[in-house]
Amino acid sequence: MKQYHLAVIPGDGIGPEVIAESEQTLARIAEIHGGIRFETRSFDWGTERYLREGALMPADGLSILEHGGFDGILLGPVGDPRVADHITLWGLILPIRQAFDQYVNLRPMRLLPGVQSPLANKRPQDIDMVCIRENTEGEYAGTGGRIHQGTDNEVAIQTTIFTRKGTERIIRYAFDYARRYGRKKVTSATKSNSMQFNMVFWDDVFRQVAADYADIAYEQQLIDSLSARFVSRPESLDVVVASNLFGDILTDLGAAISGSMGLAPSANINPERRYPSLFQAIHGSAPDIMGQGIANPIASIWSGQLMLDFLGEHEAATLLMGTIERVLADGQVRTPDLGGTATTKQMGQCIREQLQRE
Ligand code: ATP
Ligand code: MG
Repeated sequence: MKQYHLAVIPGDGIGPEVIAESEQTLARIAEIHGGIRFETRSFDWGTERYLREGALMPADGLSILEHGGFDGILLGPVGDPRVADHITLWGLILPIRQAFDQYVNLRPMRLLPGVQSPLANKRPQDIDMVCIRENTEGEYAGTGGRIHQGTDNEVAIQTTIFTRKGTERIIRYAFDYARRYGRKKVTSATKSNSMQFNMVFWDDVFRQVAADYADIAYEQQLIDSLSARFVSRPESLDVVVASNLFGDILTDLGAAISGSMGLAPSANINPERRYPSLFQAIHGSAPDIMGQGIANPIASIWSGQLMLDFLGEHEAATLLMGTIERVLADGQVRTPDLGGTATTKQMGQCIREQLQRE
């Protein structure tokens, strides 16, 4: 019997609603599998706590996560219209990513069977890619400042930081991932025509790393035309490696062409396993639908599936992914974002029942 300890941070808005479904689904997987168990500990970190106590997480929050013996962290969306986004981001998720050196943000972008893409005539095999986004530096390094504030001479500077170590390891991860998962090509998102320091450097490192992987095809494309290609020819993309900002933008685009924000999962990974990795849906707290019980829980459930895969529980991961695909292909139970009338609970319940029938 393998026992995994999970930290669960349900977060804001629809977070608690969708995280409950992913927790219950993992518990169901454990029951069926027999060989694994999940023990969870929940944390009420997020905006309500910020409004009450002035911080999204306690001062020793990172230390609790680091030394609590956790194998993984399940995180719901964090964000609230009452608090500026940069405060919520820098109050929880960005410090976790940086402190735990979760330098890989892995985001599968797939059109699942039975789901309608907003792009005409797309079949599941046409949209099947993975974005490997750099997650600790680049444009989100968090350095810069504002001078002459409030005057006509005001200047705001946001510095990007691209280190050789940080750039090389994310690009290498993308090629290793392609090899491990039988993918054929790595496309690098760049902007070296107008950013002559960081992006020319990114391109240099990309070519150097690519030379070590003769079995994997590679190409580089400017972020502007690559964005257009996501829409015009997504079938020509396989693994995409991108800096922090470019990957952030591309993956919302990837989620949109895959049919719904409510379907897009992610993993924030520390590949060396020195720190716990974190799994979260890429969507936000969706205040417009919170409390109605109609959010799609699949992005969170699928994020749990990425965790199973990361933990080496490949059999359980395959079972869960297959079940999600079958439930969507079947189409009987769909949340409103997919054109149906099912509730969050019904969607989660349906997946658990189908798991049972495997
Ligand atoms: P954030 O700034 O936190 O990323 P956002 O403003 O980008 O938030 P999201 O919350 O990511 O917005 O989502 C945009 C819209 O997509 C939501 O307002 C909601 O209508 C829809 N949406 C997001 N997640 C889901 C979900 N799980 N199920 C159904 N609809 C969703
Ligand atoms: Mg967003």
